[in-house]
Order: sequence, then structure tokens, then C-alpha cells
Amino acid sequence: MIINLTVKIARLELKNPVMVASGTFGYGEEYAPFFDLNRLGAIVVKGITLKTRAGNPPPRIVETPAGMLNAVGLQNCGLEKFVTDKMPFLRQFETPIIVNVNGETIDEYIKLSEELSQVEGVSALEINLSCPNVKAGGMAFGVDPDMVYLVTSMVRRATRLPLIIKLSPNVTDIKPIAQRAEEAGADGLSLINTVLGLAIDHKTGQPQLGNITGGLSGPAVKPIALRMVWEVSEQVSIPVIGMGGITKPEDALEFLAAGASAVAVGTGNFIKPELAIEVIEGIKDYLAKEKIADIHEIIGRFSREITYQTFIDREALLEGHFLLSSGRHSGRYFQAAMVLQDPSLASNLCAKLAKKFKGEQIDLVIGPAMGGVIVAHEVAKNLGIRAIFSERVSGKMQLRRGFRINPQERVLVVEDVITTGGSAKEVVDLVKQAGAEVIGVGSLVDRSGGMELGFQLKALLKIEIETYEPDSCPLCQKDLPLVKPGSRTAISTLAERLKRE
Ligand code: ZN
Repeated sequence: MIINLTVKIARLELKNPVMVASGTFGYGEEYAPFFDLNRLGAIVVKGITLKTRAGNPPPRIVETPAGMLNAVGLQNCGLEKFVTDKMPFLRQFETPIIVNVNGETIDEYIKLSEELSQVEGVSALEINLSCPNVKAGGMAFGVDPDMVYLVTSMVRRATRLPLIIKLSPNVTDIKPIAQRAEEAGADGLSLINTVLGLAIDHKTGQPQLGNITGGLSGPAVKPIALRMVWEVSEQVSIPVIGMGGITKPEDALEFLAAGASAVAVGTGNFIKPELAIEVIEGIKDYLAKEKIADIHEIIGRFSREITYQTFIDREALLEGHFLLSSGRHSGRYFQAAMVLQDPSLASNLCAKLAKKFKGEQIDLVIGPAMGGVIVAHEVAKNLGIRAIFSERVSGKMQLRRGFRINPQERVLVVEDVITTGGSAKEVVDLVKQAGAEVIGVGSLVDRSGGMELGFQLKALLKIEIETYEPDSCPLCQKDLPLVKPGSRTAISTLAERLKRE
């Protein structure tokens, strides 16, 4: 079985989604004796500053029950030595090299980013706005949404390399900070950096770290990291790189499910140098065992599960014995109106759908009446553009009420549910006739069962619903009462059944 493990962070392609986190993998050469570095998805090297830094006074590391507290303070060789002494070694590998960039001022971030952009073999920059162990820059910048916006937009202007912003977990709400980084032009987000902590020697009453406070990492922080990766990937449309306490393949699979497009192994490298390779192999084995051909089926799975559960709870997904408009019978039925009748839920679901088309420079959203009207409005609201709907008059899909599609407009077609794609296809034709361009079709639910639709479809959720000819319907054979959806008799919902169990 061929399994696709390739993921992309902007135009940077990784052969697998597993990288090693900055500050836990030196400059690569320290780990080269343990395995072939070409096997990694990417290498994120130790944080670089403009000048050589000695770091914080010792002691710098304290072991904790499920992790470690460190206050190294960005000890590093500085930009010049990194370019002359470290890059020649790293350039030998085909694995992308991502350089972690640190400054005490915005100017330093800009200068470093400019200089590193000229260095052969540097594939991307990770801007560290989250180091908790330095007096200036780092976390001081990363906890302030406006500062994150400012630094990101200034660095964006200084480099054409893919730009990843590393965020701090030491904030009340990470979502607006992530959002500001995206608005400022970030191509991806790394999270989380370490959690600010303290260790005291009870016998002397003194701090156990030279810097007094330090950053907690390792398995202890994994639940925090997972929660933040989930929150952020629901909020932004750029890829998230998840890290924090990965010590086995299952941890990485959890981060991918939470919405991370890639993961980084950090503190675990200190315990087991070849851990990243074990994680890669473990992910591959899992996908093979589950017969999953593409890693993207795993990415964001958690969010889809939550959406599915919402549909069941709101009785939008019904179970019973249904007569469909096609004349076929089915054991399940999806009634989008049951979720759309709740305005805040409709808004929330459509925001997630809109996110899938952010960055596509769409001018107009169009939905076929009736199901598409609410979805079109909510998606358009999120994209900040106008929404219209089409109507079928004497069997023909058309625009009324003065609605227009202008030539050359980039148009998104949306639906509540796609079954055969019939209405969507008619709207796609309508858009083409107007001389405009169809960018894609978006739908809350895709229950087309992988049928060739003739357009690119992105949906919040894919639901498999089997349908039967009346002659060979197993539900008819069981004498289950047949129900026409919309009527309220003889319907047992999956939610009711779940409650009974
Ligand atoms: Zn039947």
C-alpha cells in the first residue's frame, strides 16, 4: 500500500509531517551519528541571534516528574558562525532546514530574517516570539497580539521564505494572537513553546535555576499543547505545527487529529535521540494498518468528529427508514435545517467552511435556494464579500431579484448538503455563463460518496449514506415503517437511540 505522508507549509513541502523542535536538536550534526537526517520531515535548528550568546547562568535544567524545566537562555553561536560553520554540514541533506530566529528588538528580527534569506539551504524561518528565558524580545513580544502583528508584518516584508511564527502558551487566549499572526502574513504557526514554571530548593529556599524561572516541556505539557493546537487550527486557515510532549507515535497522531499539519519532537530527543524516526515509522504503520492512504485523512479529524456529534445532538442526522426524493430508500437522512435553525451554530459552522476558502480571493458567494441561502450569507459574512442565491423557475436555475454575477468575478458556490451535486452543477453553469470563474464548491456535508462531480468540493464533513432500490431494501425486509423526511412520524433519531443506550 502506498501511503502519502507529504504535507505542505506554504510552498515548503515535507516528505513526512515529523520535524524536530528548535533547541532540542542542536544544529543537526549532534544527532547525525544516530540516524540518517534525510529521513526527517524537517530540521528546526537551535535558536539563532545576531551575535553569539552565552545564555543564562547555571544551573539551567531541572528535571520534573513528567518533563523538564529549562532556562538555557538562547545560548548560540550567532548568525555569522551559524552561516560559516553550521550551514555547510546541514546543506548536505535534502531535508528542509528551518532556522529559528530570535531578537531583542524588531530590528534584530528583521536583520536576521533578511540575512538568512540570502543563505543557500535555508528553507524557511521560524520566528520565535515565545522564548520565556530572555529579558527582551521572545515571549515579551508573543503575549501581545499587536506586537505579534507588528513583528510578523515587518519580517514578512524582509523575507520571501515561508514564515512560521512560534507562539507562547503563556497567554489567557491564544486565538486572537494566532489570528493576528495570520493577518500579518504568517505562512504557518508553531505551538507550543514551553510553559513558564519555577523550581525551588525547599532546604535552602533558593531557586533551582540560575534564571529563577524556566520553561516546562515534556509529557506534562502535552494536554495544554493539544488544546491550543485545536483552538488555533479552528481559528486560522494557515498550517499549524504541533509540539509539546511527543514521546510516541500515538502522541503525534493526536496532534494531527487536533488539526496540526505537522508535528515536532522536542524534549523526547534528549531521552531517545532516534525518537523522531520511531514516530515517523509508527505513523506509517498505523496508517497502513487502518488502510488510510493519505495523512490528510487524519489531519483535523477531531474537529470533524465534533461536528458529526453536533449533527447527531441537533437531530440533523436521522436514523430510520427513509424514502428519498430519488425514490430510493435509506437508513439515514441528513436534514441540514436542524442545525441551521440555530443562528449561532449556523454562523460557527459556516465560519469553518469559509476558512477552507480563505486566501482564494473570492469575490462572490452564491447558493442555490433554499438550502444554500443561509450558508451563502454566513460564508460571505466571514469572507467579507457579497452573497446571492439562485432559484429554479420552470425547472431552470436562474438569478432573480436583481442579483448579478459580473464577468471575471471569482465565485464560490455553497450548499448545505451535496448528494448528487445536481443543483450545485446548475449553479456552476450559471456562473460560467456569466463569464465568471468558479473557484470551488463548499458544503456543510458531502454525502456524494466520492462520486465524480465535475467540480472541486470542500466540505466540513463527509457522511456515507447507503441507499437502496425499494425491491432490494434490507429495511423494507425488516418491516420498518417507511418515512418521507420532513414528516415527524416513525422517525427514531440516532440521538434518541444513543440516549437509550
Ligand atoms: Zn426500504
